[in-house]
Amino acid sequence: MSAPQNQKQFETITVTASDLPVYCPGPNSPLWSMHPRVYIEIEKNGTASCPYCSATYQLATHSNAE
Ligand SMILES: [Zn+2]
Repeated sequence: MSAPQNQKQFETITVTASDLPVYCPGPNSPLWSMHPRVYIEIEKNGTASCPYCSATYQLATHSNAE
């Protein structure tokens, strides 16, 4: 069990392969989360959190490639 966090809770942002490469803040990010753009290395684990705003990005496993 982990200790409860006092930080804000952030939604998990699901992205698809067509959204790669993923940058944060993305086009749908709220203004308050604006920060220097960083590349989210989501391909490695399928999920990654932004070091700036702690937004969690998850790669959808849909295979929608054409
Ligand atoms: Zn961010």
